[in-house]
Amino acid sequence: MAVSFNPPVRTLMGPGPSDVHPRILEALSRPTIGHLDPEFVAMMDEVKKLLQYAYQTDNELTIPVSAPGSAGMETCFVNLVEPGDKVIVCQNGVFGGRQKENVERAGGSAVMVMDDWGEAVDLAKLEQALEQNPDAKIVSFVHAETSTGAQSDANGIWELAHKHDCLVIADCVTSLAGTPVKVDEWGLDAVYSGTQKCLSCVPGLSPVTFSERAVEKIKNRQSKVQSWFLDLNLVMGYWGEGAKRSYHHTAPVNALYALHESLVMLRDEGLENAWNRHAQNHQALKAGLEAMGISFLVEKSARLPQLNSVMIPQGVDDASVRGRLLNEFNLEIGAGLGDLAGKVWRIGLMGHSSRPENVIFCLSALEAVMGEMNAPINKGVALTAAQAVYSA
Ligand SMILES: *Cc1c(COP(=O)(O)O)cnc(C)c1O
Repeated sequence: MAVSFNPPVRTLMGPGPSDVHPRILEALSRPTIGHLDPEFVAMMDEVKKLLQYAYQTDNELTIPVSAPGSAGMETCFVNLVEPGDKVIVCQNGVFGGRQKENVERAGGSAVMVMDDWGEAVDLAKLEQALEQNPDAKIVSFVHAETSTGAQSDANGIWELAHKHDCLVIADCVTSLAGTPVKVDEWGLDAVYSGTQKCLSCVPGLSPVTFSERAVEKIKNRQSKVQSWFLDLNLVMGYWGEGAKRSYHHTAPVNALYALHESLVMLRDEGLENAWNRHAQNHQALKAGLEAMGISFLVEKSARLPQLNSVMIPQGVDDASVRGRLLNEFNLEIGAGLGDLAGKVWRIGLMGHSSRPENVIFCLSALEAVMGEMNAPINKGVALTAAQAVYSA
């Protein structure tokens, strides 16, 4: 007979979910109220305001979709892509491939701009694709490729796209709250994110934001959005500004308490301080790993501080190291995906996981496990190197 489920207490340093702050877990357990209760509706308005801050936007249509990041992705594509639309998709990892799939399922055609895994999107290739496809309506890209740890130049992509009169869809699932995401300054038209990466909230919600240009396109569609649940024309009846709220679906009430709490914490910390914290902990982890003799997959200029893809030392068995970290230290780090499987680890320093004690813990645990396996690493130097970053 099943009994209560009591999960182990882990330290989450993979590609997400990240550690959830106790304040957020506490918020989650507050009493459930009706999803049209005036008190709840007032909280929803605060969530929208706080998300505008996180996204650095005045976009009115800034809401959390009631489902994980992948649903935020679908929301962007099913609402903006009409059958026959041509979309230029920049792919440099796993998640760009999902954007292509979304374009095609929405009845559009995808023109691919391909870059190697671990590289940022090449602006020259994008420009060439825009010139060769003057009928393209949308450009999409992944700002922070969690499969590789590479960040692309959102500002450069936006400038090219708008010059060619295209809307821009950006995947900011891993970047939001970890590195700058400036929706208005960068002219991004549709952006989706997730709650379980640098917001350090529980998984299952997807903040999205849409520019006025994007909203115009959605309102003037020739055909109905093929997904009833994700049709923003309907969702806005529930989340819309000032409008009388009408039932569309039952919002995940408690999960939204948690998101509200995580956004209050982000506002209290300040976005810039959050970005700096992610940068500093990355520097310390990097110093420790490099002292150990471990190198990074992504070139310095495109490296994400919140997702560190590092090369597994020669002869070291990927799965047994990760298994021992999990079983002996309750520490989760991420495996490589696709061609990078077995070649890299993905060490996440996202949100509440991005703390000095986690950096030191992860370096110690890696050294302990690999040391015992007689892996080719330098021993006894990583912690001093990491600590030097904090003391500087
Ligand atoms: C995690 C992630 C997603 C998907 O989010 P889910 O919440 O897992 O659906 C999409 N894009 C990127 C870049 C991600 O890192």
